[in-house]
Amino acid sequence: MLLHIGLDDTDSPSGGCTTYIAARLVERLLALGGRFIDYPNLLRLNPNVPWKTRGNGAICLRLDIDPRNEVQVKRVVIELVEAYSEFDCANTNPGAVFLVGDVPDSLIKFSKRVVTSVVSLEDAFRLIDETGAFALGYKNMRGIIGSLAAVGGLRHGDHTFEFLAYRELESCGTLRVVDADSVRMMDEETRGSTFNNLDPETGRVLIAPHGPDPVLFGVRGESPEAVYRAGLMVSSESIERWTIFRTNQGTDAHLQIHDCLSELEPYSPATVHGEVVEVPQTIQGGHVVFSLEDDTAVIDCAAYEPSGSFRDTVRSLIPGDEVTVSGGVRGNPVGWRLTLNLEKLEVRELTRDVRLVNPVCPNCEGGMESMGRGKGFRCRRCGFRDGELEKRRIEMERTLTSGLYLPPPRAQRHLTKPLQRYGKEKHGPIERGIVELWHWP
Ligand code: ATP
Repeated sequence: MLLHIGLDDTDSPSGGCTTYIAARLVERLLALGGRFIDYPNLLRLNPNVPWKTRGNGAICLRLDIDPRNEVQVKRVVIELVEAYSEFDCANTNPGAVFLVGDVPDSLIKFSKRVVTSVVSLEDAFRLIDETGAFALGYKNMRGIIGSLAAVGGLRHGDHTFEFLAYRELESCGTLRVVDADSVRMMDEETRGSTFNNLDPETGRVLIAPHGPDPVLFGVRGESPEAVYRAGLMVSSESIERWTIFRTNQGTDAHLQIHDCLSELEPYSPATVHGEVVEVPQTIQGGHVVFSLEDDTAVIDCAAYEPSGSFRDTVRSLIPGDEVTVSGGVRGNPVGWRLTLNLEKLEVRELTRDVRLVNPVCPNCEGGMESMGRGKGFRCRRCGFRDGELEKRRIEMERTLTSGLYLPPPRAQRHLTKPLQRYGKEKHGPIERGIVELWHWP
């Protein structure tokens, strides 16, 4: 029988990782005779939910099992969730969902909502009843939301792969040893089929996280073959295990396209079009903010300090420019105005930068100053006066060009589609089948 196992919310800021439980489960479920029909799925959920620990990721394992082993399989899942969840953390509320058979459309729709907006636990419970799924929730049970979403996720359309390598248990919490030269070489040799290995602006290695979790490094790419090849090229400290996941990372799956600004909602990532209404301002901390409007509303758009040179692009906007912005809508509106944290900026239509400047003195070519509204100008240098003179219109050259701009990879979200993935999107239903080498041991 076909069994889908969803898992979420097992980790805390001080350790753990739901993908690690999945990697361990692979070994145990294979030993029970399970036959995986897909790579373990790593579904990144709405990155703007306030109660996420880190990357808001949930897991689904999809496998054929002997129906006589169903109880044993569930027992192993529960054993590992209980052994590796960070129960002491107030914000860790593990969940597990088991679904037998095909994934119904209602679950696919629910999953899409969990990736793009905020949903309630009641909605999840209702769907569990409707679909006949079996769910297990610990503490406040919130993990059931992500677990159910993972079961309904990644059924069709764009996806990517990640080779995740895990540390030996005793190394967790110490500095990771990943050879930067080997990462540079891997990046060069697999360019086009892997992405976001390095940050080009700083040269920083991006494949290794910095926290106490068991992930040693992760290589992201277009196919299982590509990430397998790339993962094995990285020299590092000793690896306990590795697994290839199929994911929605780098696909923009979280961005919902809206027709107008008034449709935006707090905590929901969005893509929307508007006109710049104020010159961008650099505020305390180096963040850059500008206002955007359409016929229905005005919002603020913010490019944060870590987005580096992306802020220079934002600073070059002027009122009248037409742009499409993408990003997460902040939860706490300033007054009625929502703020969108920029993940992407598409400059659609550049307005002409025409400025009104004081005339040049016809007598000595010195600078002139106004003698009052409608009263003409006086030369600061020679004192020449002319009551008829008016301001001149001059057109400044625009340094910005139309096109799509993204923050550098180090400041991109897991779900953000990097520039090099444009044109590589996968369409249609997911091909069944799985390569031979997708996990170790
Ligand atoms: P990761 O496993 O990558 O570290 P995370 O740790 O950042 O992910 P979790 O600890 O899983 O995040 O916490 C997120 C919690 O929020 C989970 O309980 C999940 O069910 C819930 N959740 C996720 N997305 C939504 C959503 N869109 N609406 C409501 N609840 C959500």
